[in-house]
Amino acid sequence: MAGEDDGKSDLKYKRVLLKISGEALMGDTEYGIDMPTCLKFAEEIKAARDEGAEICLVIGGGNIFRGLAGAANGMERAQADSMGMLATIMNALAMQNALETIGVPTRVQSGLRMDEVAEPFIRRRAIRHMEKGRVVIFAAGTGNPYFTTDTGAALRAAEMNCEAMLKGTQVDGVYSADPKTNPDAQRYDTLDYQDVLARNLRVMDASAVSLMRDTNIPIVVFSLHNKGALQSVLKGEGPSTVISAE
Ligand code: UDP
Repeated sequence: MAGEDDGKSDLKYKRVLLKISGEALMGDTEYGIDMPTCLKFAEEIKAARDEGAEICLVIGGGNIFRGLAGAANGMERAQADSMGMLATIMNALAMQNALETIGVPTRVQSGLRMDEVAEPFIRRRAIRHMEKGRVVIFAAGTGNPYFTTDTGAALRAAEMNCEAMLKGTQVDGVYSADPKTNPDAQRYDTLDYQDVLARNLRVMDASAVSLMRDTNIPIVVFSLHNKGALQSVLKGEGPSTVISAE
């Protein structure tokens, strides 16, 4: 069972938080949730859990609603952010469904009270779930407006004593330029938190990066689209960019 010392000690990171953007759940569609894509991610998570990793998830909401877009459209920002947080709860329930379809026990904990569909966020209870091998999905980001799910992910990674925050993206790391448009773009193997902040590398929000710097938790940026990539990253292998205090 995940959480027990079963001799599979080749994991570099045993307890991790995986951040998946809402947009990743769209797959090739234009909007919303593509269940085959959720299932694909669930299979990756299951394989990693079967290796003995303790995994918690934070999922964004950008495939459904972003507070900034609502504000740009004339809404009050805090109100629009509440809608964004509700979007993340929908995504969390979709991922819960995908994981449980393939036999992975899960719990959703929400930063906004939603008692009929999810537990409230209770840190010690979440840790217990992970120790029991459950994948805990944190919904509603930080539970506060004016933040993003990247910052929510950093906060939960720190609260859960995670050894790394894994950011699954469209590409396999942080590049010197956009690798989709610039063939000369180079992937960084490692970066210092300070480089990311000072050079405004746009890996994730500055508030998320600075919280990871202050708590000394490495951020590993990798591609969720490569099969087996999550397992490799947990072993410290495969293409990625590791952001830490170099
Ligand atoms: N949000 C928020 N507080 C949080 C996390 C998220 O208000 O702590 C809202 C915010 O409006 C954000 C939306 O939820 O735009 C969706 O989250 P995010 O944009 O981070 O999703 P992603 O880009 O990862 O899909």
